[in-house]
Amino acid sequence: MIPENTYDVAIAGGGLAGLTLAIQMRMKGHSVILFEKERYPFHRVCGEYISLESLGFLKSLGIDPEDMDCPVINHLIVSAPDGTLIKQELPLGGFGISRYRLDHRLATIARELGVILKEADKVQELRFKEGYFEIRSASGIYTSLVAAGCFGKRSNLDIKWKRGFTEKKPSKLNNYIGVKYHVKTDFPLDTIALHNFSDGYCGISAVEDGRYCLCYLTTASNLERNGHSIEKMQENILFRNPYLEKIFTTAEFLWEQPVTISQISFETKSMFEDHVLMIGDAAGMITPLCGNGMSMAMHASKLAANYLEKFLKKEISRTEMEISYTRDWDKAFSSRLKMGRFIQSLFGKPAITNLFIRAMKPFPFLVRELIRKTHGQPF
Ligand SMILES: Cc1cc2nc3c(=O)[nH]c(=O)nc-3n(C[C@H](O)[C@H](O)[C@H](O)COP(=O)(O)OP(=O)(O)OC[C@H]3O[C@@H](n4cnc5c(N)ncnc54)[C@H](O)[C@@H]3O)c2cc1C
Repeated sequence: MIPENTYDVAIAGGGLAGLTLAIQMRMKGHSVILFEKERYPFHRVCGEYISLESLGFLKSLGIDPEDMDCPVINHLIVSAPDGTLIKQELPLGGFGISRYRLDHRLATIARELGVILKEADKVQELRFKEGYFEIRSASGIYTSLVAAGCFGKRSNLDIKWKRGFTEKKPSKLNNYIGVKYHVKTDFPLDTIALHNFSDGYCGISAVEDGRYCLCYLTTASNLERNGHSIEKMQENILFRNPYLEKIFTTAEFLWEQPVTISQISFETKSMFEDHVLMIGDAAGMITPLCGNGMSMAMHASKLAANYLEKFLKKEISRTEMEISYTRDWDKAFSSRLKMGRFIQSLFGKPAITNLFIRAMKPFPFLVRELIRKTHGQPF
């Protein structure tokens, strides 16, 4: 028996996957409740470069980067730890916007459309009962007909469900950390740079208001080897790349402390847990050097919205919904994730990265091809 006041859709996590799913389902006329453990607006670790493949989709939800004065980014620079440079036009390109601004805008749109947005409300438990879900959050107990896990790279629910990737020993695919700053510096607005260093890489690109997002990924062991000090690690490791030394020593840092995240994993993940549909990084995370995770999260929400709608209209069963979503997700993203993991494996060890970048330098079409293989078509 379905309890009274059951929502059609419950969403755990209000990043890009959760917010865009909430807006789509509300636009289709369903009742939606979304739980986000933080309060908007807030900063989070992300390179803040969005591939143009999601432009049409974002416009359909009421976000137009052209009206928001977002810098258009169509050039790429990649540097090896030894300073060797590749410069390249981006086949599709993208734009820069801070997550502080983008997520806040999406949350406002969701609220205006009538999504019940529970901020600072962490989901503690999410269980399938007979034909419906029970959600226990900091503010109470709620029920819904369908539920989506949009809680990102790693959450308390991953641990609770003992999802496979949380139990793996440290390897080349897990235990990464992310660090992000906003800075003011002298750098072209139309360019994204990816500077490599031992055990990691650091991106820089423009967002709004003359700011730049300076964001890097490295291994937890790199931080450990530097006495758990971010400053020391930057000076000892990142500064060996001359481009990074220049940026870090001349830029104006706009925050006292960076935003950080740990225990990032690129392992494969399950698409469902207890009938909860996983969307965005909760379903599988592409390595950040591909610059495409946000578009993938939004694209996956579009795929999911299609089948959630069909299920809620009783056109397909729950099992059919789960099978169809998994099939579409695999088709859209599996090969990109594999390619992302492969490229990631070439970055990290300075000798291999130097060699790889030197080898690619005379062949711009190969670099373009690699970029294409980690990106999708506009959706
Ligand atoms: C270093 C780094 C750089 C990156 N750079 C880029 C880039 O330049 N371009 C790009 O496209 N992608 C980039 N990415 C990837 C991108 O950030 C992610 O793919 C994208 O944010 C995924 O969106 P999501 O909605 O799945 O997760 P998120 O955006 O992480 O959102 C998940 C949300 O769930 C909330 N949450 C978690 N647990 C709970 C709970 N129990 N209850 C309630 N709320 C909860 C969190 O607070 C969070 O707001 C980068 C990633 C990293 C690590």
